Amino acid sequence: MQNLTILGATGSIGASTLKVVAQNPSLYSIYALVGGKNVTKMAALCLQWQPKFAVVAEESDAKRLRTELNGLVDTQILFGQDAMCQVSADDDVDMVMAAIVGAAGLLPTLAAVKAGKRILLANKEALVMSGQLFIDAVRTSGAQLLPVDSEHNAIFQCLPTSIQTDLGYCDLAQAGIEHILLTGSGGPFRYSDVSSLSSVTPAQAIAHPNWSMGPKISVDSATMMNKGLEFIEAKWLFNTNKDQLKVIIHPQSVIHSMVQYQDGSVLAQMGQPDMATPIAYSMSYPERIPAGVPSLDFTKMNELTFLEVDFERYPCLALAIEACYEGQHATTAINAANEVAVEAFLSGGISFTDISMINERVMSKVCASNQYNVLSDLESILELDRMARIYAGEIVHSK
Ligand code: NDP
Repeated sequence: MQNLTILGATGSIGASTLKVVAQNPSLYSIYALVGGKNVTKMAALCLQWQPKFAVVAEESDAKRLRTELNGLVDTQILFGQDAMCQVSADDDVDMVMAAIVGAAGLLPTLAAVKAGKRILLANKEALVMSGQLFIDAVRTSGAQLLPVDSEHNAIFQCLPTSIQTDLGYCDLAQAGIEHILLTGSGGPFRYSDVSSLSSVTPAQAIAHPNWSMGPKISVDSATMMNKGLEFIEAKWLFNTNKDQLKVIIHPQSVIHSMVQYQDGSVLAQMGQPDMATPIAYSMSYPERIPAGVPSLDFTKMNELTFLEVDFERYPCLALAIEACYEGQHATTAINAANEVAVEAFLSGGISFTDISMINERVMSKVCASNQYNVLSDLESILELDRMARIYAGEIVHSK
């Protein structure tokens, strides 16, 4: 029986993780559930799963949760980031699902890394903003890193064990790998007129054609900033150079990514667009367990198609790739700017196309200054994240 803490339990990945646990009740036990502000959802989860701890963002949320639960379960209710770190690092915890959205997930995820846990990494923003520091912390503590993002999980499944067990430091060429093909559906605006994108609404942007996900990653999928963040995530996980990582559009989302070997072989991982599959694999690796996902029926599939990326349609993706090769200061800055811009778009403050404009302006400002070129510790990363959010907020308010 493995004890699991779920960071982001009230979200979409949290729900899929609990679906996998429900399929395998003799293998996993819920130690702690961590959420932000959705107290009603957290109360329902506590009643169902009776974890040892439930952690929410603010003291007022914890009070509301206590009132809602009314002593019906023995769960201890805590709040705030220190408590999130504590339930990620406790001795009794075996694995931590890192699925808080955005930079808010960094410190609890790092706490789990430093405590040497098995890390099920969905929260790509944590790795994007801290890069080498995160990877070094994994190596130092001996934590086991398993990618949950469907593309990275697919790539991981197509790689040899020697690479799987040496994430962050692996040598792809030595393992006979030519390159990794990171696939993306292109989101809901793949065929829209580019000139119409400035007027798309948040409801249109979050209506992903294939996947059901939280609002931030859904907007990121529409701008393809998500693929950009994944590009940076893949660079850190698989230690890729410029020629070893390519993005292609695959509208049907059946192939979740591929690895091309030097002998001409291509290994692809396929499946339904259901996060329970990569989550189950990350929880059970190297074994396989039921995930409650129907099998693919190839006879019902019409076609699998592939297209080059049109970077004019997806300027956020071009920017993120540029940031990836510019350095840590650029990726930390663009990640922070994007979080501010997406939130402003979702609340109606800016247009869809303003997101890339804000990302570009914040990244340029940070890259033009040499103040942030060396980000050797967590404090300097958090300081740059804070400054980039301020720049981005100023642009939002000027709109
Ligand atoms: P959701 O928006 O559905 O859920 C986000 C979760 O984060 C919620 O539990 C939310 O709590 C919690 N949260 C937000 N802010 C805080 C905070 N300050 N402190 C504590 N908890 C907080 O997002 P998803 O589940 O879709 O995505 C989660 C992560 O997984 C993201 O990084 C995303 O990129 C990644 N991912 C998601 C995929 C998907 O299919 N959904 C696929 C691959 C990666 P509350 O709602 O209670 O405020």
